[in-house]
Amino acid sequence: MRKIMKISMKMFTMQSQISQRMRKLMTLSMKMFTLQIQLRKFFLTWMIQGIGTGQTKIYITDFLVERGPKRDNNVIFPKDKCDRCFSSKHYFRELPNGEKQERKWLVYSVSLDKVFCFCCKLFAKKHLVGQLADEGVNDWHNISDRLKSHERSRYHIGSMTSWMELAKRLKLKLTIDASLKEQINQEKEHWKQVLERILAVVKRLGKNNLAFCGDSEKLYEKNNGIFLQMIELLAEFDSTMQKTCSTY
Ligand SMILES: [Zn+2]
Repeated sequence: MRKIMKISMKMFTMQSQISQRMRKLMTLSMKMFTLQIQLRKFFLTWMIQGIGTGQTKIYITDFLVERGPKRDNNVIFPKDKCDRCFSSKHYFRELPNGEKQERKWLVYSVSLDKVFCFCCKLFAKKHLVGQLADEGVNDWHNISDRLKSHERSRYHIGSMTSWMELAKRLKLKLTIDASLKEQINQEKEHWKQVLERILAVVKRLGKNNLAFCGDSEKLYEKNNGIFLQMIELLAEFDSTMQKTCSTY
């Protein structure tokens, strides 16, 4: 009976160790997802504040143009002193034939409660720009007229052209640092595949209530536990894991 109790206690400890590791992995995945969102928000804030020069500005511009000005549709726009606020209907303009066309360039900043022009903020020359490409607009009473006059302006049309041209070049990978980006993308894809394999091993060990660790925490060492041994086994047949195991 004492032996059964001892085995049960050992199994319980192992299960809680596995749960702790699974929780850590889940937390890590959530952190990576949150980091991606934060990175995008950070660059958008950067764009609005107009910080960055030279190569940094080029990288941020490329990053933002590649992803485009995506919107959060769940924002509740705050009302000003006169009970007016921004409305998502301004994301569209009505053409003379009654059709609606999306104003993809229009960006709303939740933290500033102002709207900006995405492309003028990135491409228009500083001395030419109006409020939409500078400190932002929150004149909600006249917002329709302000947007209409902005989209007819020469500098906005010029910025739209620059935006579309860069987006096209980025899509065709024709920018100067295209080869560097290609290298980064390959690296990203490699680590994604490594992570997929590690998760598969973790899930399988967890499913069978197996302990992960051994006496050593290094690959290709004696008694390094079932987890690292499974990774070593994968590396025997899989080029992705082979590359990783031989490098790290
Ligand atoms: Zn503009």
